[in-house]
Amino acid sequence: MILMHDIIREGDERLRQKSKDVETPVSEEDINLLKDMLEYVHNSVDDEIGPKYGLRPSVGLAAPQLGILKKIIAISAYDESGKLHDYALINPKILSYSDELTYLPSGEGCLSVDREVKGLVHRRKRITFKALVLENNKLIEKTIKLKDYIAVVFQHEYDHLQGYLFVDRINKENPFYVPENSVKINFGDEEKND
Ligand code: ZN
Repeated sequence: MILMHDIIREGDERLRQKSKDVETPVSEEDINLLKDMLEYVHNSVDDEIGPKYGLRPSVGLAAPQLGILKKIIAISAYDESGKLHDYALINPKILSYSDELTYLPSGEGCLSVDREVKGLVHRRKRITFKALVLENNKLIEKTIKLKDYIAVVFQHEYDHLQGYLFVDRINKENPFYVPENSVKINFGDEEKND
């Protein structure tokens, strides 16, 4: 199982490199890596396993964060309406996206960035991509449309495949700048605490 010491941190050059397409047909080794990555994300938020192994809670993991420069992403996150999105993806490719942007009012975090970074990350509000998706132990090519929070999570992970970290996307002069075409993501709870 993947543990925190398997995850490379900011400063490691591998986080700055572009990942390569996974060769098809996808090997057993790559499928197992994908499964292990999704397992980490699940374990990280498990009430027992998370604390027991000192896992930092997360909603996604990209292979470069393990020092493996392959286009592999695992995501498990709840959207604004409380629906769980589990995605185990190989070779994701963005097909289209909205001009409209969106952002998390609390900013973003990353397992590979240990320091707290203040500032907003504006991402596409809607995004369409294709990928090989692992479902019921089978890889199927699919086109997926995401919006709002889950779209943000996907773009954060997709950035890892390009060698970008979320800190690169924060406006240096004005970290809390909000462009005209960017709308805040609202989670019910957060809105109450505003
Ligand atoms: Zn990250």
